[in-house]
Amino acid sequence: MRVLVQKFGGTSVAGPSEREHVLRKVLAAREMGYAVVVVVSAMGRRGAPYVTDTLLELLREGKATPRETDLLLACGEIVSGVVLAAALRARGVAATFLTGPQAGLITDETHGEARIIRVEPRRLRQELEEGKVVVVAGFQGMSEKGEVTTLGRGGSDTTATALGVALQAEAVEIYTDVEGVKTADPRLEGTARTLERLTYNEVCQLAQEGARVIHPRAVEIAMQANLPLWIKNTFSDGPGTLVVNGAFEQTVMIKADRPVTGITQIAPLTQFILEVEGADQVRAFRALAAEGISLDFITVLPERVIFNVREENEAKTRATLAALGFRPQMRPKCAKVAAVGAGMTGRPGIMAAIMESLAAEGIAVLQSADSYTTIWCLVKEEEMPRAVTALHRRFCA
Ligand code: ASP
Ligand code: MG
Repeated sequence: MRVLVQKFGGTSVAGPSEREHVLRKVLAAREMGYAVVVVVSAMGRRGAPYVTDTLLELLREGKATPRETDLLLACGEIVSGVVLAAALRARGVAATFLTGPQAGLITDETHGEARIIRVEPRRLRQELEEGKVVVVAGFQGMSEKGEVTTLGRGGSDTTATALGVALQAEAVEIYTDVEGVKTADPRLEGTARTLERLTYNEVCQLAQEGARVIHPRAVEIAMQANLPLWIKNTFSDGPGTLVVNGAFEQTVMIKADRPVTGITQIAPLTQFILEVEGADQVRAFRALAAEGISLDFITVLPERVIFNVREENEAKTRATLAALGFRPQMRPKCAKVAAVGAGMTGRPGIMAAIMESLAAEGIAVLQSADSYTTIWCLVKEEEMPRAVTALHRRFCA
C-alpha cells in the first residue's frame, strides 16, 4: 500500500468552492494509486463560525477548564472533517472520517499544547486497506487516560507528519494558499521566488522567523523519519516546495553553491543594553524570567548584557529592571533580519557579504548572532525592507 498524507489548512476548506479544489487534489492522488489520508484544519479564517479562534471566543464569558476547552476546540476540526468526508462520498469516493483519538494519536496530558507520544494506526490502516479515503481531524489527540487534547496552534501540520511517519507514507503534502516556501516575504520583496527544494533545518528556521508556512514541530517529526514533505498550493497546480534532508544529513544533494536559501524578518523588537557585570547579570536574567518575559537575541559580555524583547513587553521589561535599580539603554523599533541557508555551514565569507550588502545601503548592524544555518542581524525597523531587499539581491536573486 502506497500511502500519501494530504493536509489542508483552514483557507483550503473554508467553503464549498474551496473544497472543490481539495476534492480535486484528493481524487488526483487516488488516481495515482495512493491510499490517501486527508488531515484537515478547522474551516476558514479568523471570524468564520467553526474556526479555532471563534470557539475560543465562546468561552470568554465562562470559566472552562483546560480539559473542557480542548473538548470544544476539537470540534472545529471535527466539523471540517465530517463535511469533507461527506463531500468525497457525494463524488462516489468511499470515505470515512476519524477524530484524532480514533486515528490513534496518543499524546501527553498537556491540554492546549499536547505533544504526540505515539500513534496507534491500526484502525486507520484497516480503513485504508478497505480502499477508503480516511479524513482525520487535525490538531487533536487523546491522552493515555482517555482525555481529548489539542496540539497547540497550528497543530494540524503535526498531525499530518505524525500520521505520515506512523503509516510509512511516501510523502506528506501540506496544502495552503501560497505556492510554497519563498526566498523572502513577497510583501517586502517583489522578486521573491518559490523555492523548489530546501532542507528540514532551513524550513524550520524560515517557519520560526515569520514565514509561517508550516509548524516547526511537524518538520521535526518528518525530519526524524526522513519523510519527504511538500508545501503546495491547494488552488494551483504549481510544483510547490519539497523539504528533504540536506547534503550533510544524507540522500539528496542540495545545490551546493547556495549559501543562503531565504531571507526572513521579525519586528518590532526593542533592544536593551544593560551595563552590569557578574552577579548583577544573573539577577537581571532571573528577575525577567520571574516576570515571564521571553528574551530573544541575547549577547552576554563581561561588562554588559544585550537582549531584545517584543515591543509589547518593553514597558514591563523596563519596569522589572528599574525595580532592581538598573538603568538600561533602550533602542525601540528594531527588526531582526535573518539569512537562512544550510549551505553556509563551514563556508567563509558569508558574514563579509552580509556586512558589505548592508553597508552599501547605509544600514548599520546593531547586533548579530549566528547558528550553523542562520545569520541574524538587528537593524532599525524603518530600514528593514531595504535590508531584506539588499540581502535578497545579494544571495537569492
Ligand atoms: N485549527 C488550529 C489552529 O487554528 C490548528 C491548525 O489549523 O493547524 O491553530
Ligand atoms: Mg497552519
